[in-house]
Amino acid sequence: MDALTTVETAQQAMEEAPTIIVKVGSALLVRENGSIRREWMAALVQDIAALVKAGRRVVLVSSGAIRVGLRLQGREPVQLGLDEKQAAAALGQIRLAEAYADCFAEQDLRVGQILLTQEDTEDRRRYLNARATLNRLLDWGTIPLVNENDTVATAEIRFGDNDRLAARVGGMVGADLLVLLSDIDGLYTGNPKTETSAEHLPLITTGITPEVEAMAGVERSAYSNGGMVTKLAAAKIALGAGCAMIIADGSGLHPLQALREGVKATLFKPALSRHSARQAWLVGALSGNGVLVLDEGAARAVRQGKSLLPAGVSQVEGAFGRGDTVQLRGLDGSDIGRGIAIYDSEEAQAIAGKRSADIAGLLGETRGPNLIHADDLALF
Ligand code: GLU
Repeated sequence: MDALTTVETAQQAMEEAPTIIVKVGSALLVRENGSIRREWMAALVQDIAALVKAGRRVVLVSSGAIRVGLRLQGREPVQLGLDEKQAAAALGQIRLAEAYADCFAEQDLRVGQILLTQEDTEDRRRYLNARATLNRLLDWGTIPLVNENDTVATAEIRFGDNDRLAARVGGMVGADLLVLLSDIDGLYTGNPKTETSAEHLPLITTGITPEVEAMAGVERSAYSNGGMVTKLAAAKIALGAGCAMIIADGSGLHPLQALREGVKATLFKPALSRHSARQAWLVGALSGNGVLVLDEGAARAVRQGKSLLPAGVSQVEGAFGRGDTVQLRGLDGSDIGRGIAIYDSEEAQAIAGKRSADIAGLLGETRGPNLIHADDLALF
């Protein structure tokens, strides 16, 4: 069962979520003149450190590279060409990461930088690779620091906003909660800056309906690419993956601590559990002609929620690539389910029936002990 099934408030979600994605908007982190708000950053990092020390897994998605880079180059953030934004991101990202690394070091924590494009979150192979790296960093107790790979993303394939990127990352690592820190403390029934009757909504359980979208119609943030519209787009992605989402005002110091103490915010709760969202997605995903025939022990193990090891595969049929969905079949020909293969069909042939410890020897490299990870299995 998912960790957040019974929570009703942002505060409870912060206390219950084992894996949290924290997204920081440029407007919070970088002053209008392009300098980094170091005190704010250090306070945020202390909050993250407190969560990590309490056993949570935290991924930090931070914007700000472009604005920091523009400042370094003495450029104003107006009417920029894509190449200028990309060059600014190249200059700024290294400074941003350096500043974070310093702040985390003060808390005895390490950060690992991951720059992703939209394609990395869509192409199955790249998705699996990025996910494996993120999970490894989390297993090591380190903090993945994520931004869009602005230097190579072209206009058509850019996220352009880190709200949606953060939601995709949430789906990737099976996060329970995505926290969007911005300059507004949640969703209102109208624009709170212009409409006095606009009411704050602490909890949304309906999903992102047209009514919810209408309430968010106005772009309320002057500097970031975000605004409420991309936040709701992010909510759709997150909720679709069974991940809850919070919109909170991060302007003050210690924004995550404030959420844990019950500051005003909006919590969006998913209708589907993470598990059922993933299963629905897997079953809906087109499967090619690849088939793995499992022996009885393996069929039993996967039904108990375990990953599929090569040792339990007695036969490999058809051609499939890494990241493709394959069919799982029993020795009696029964259709057991679907799963995403970590090894391609040739590799699977070579390691079927063998021990995971032998994978490196047989293939010359290993991508871990599983042929299919438990999270990537949908069983009938
Ligand atoms: N990736 C951009 C940056 O780091 C920011 C995108 C956003 O504002 O969401 O500058």
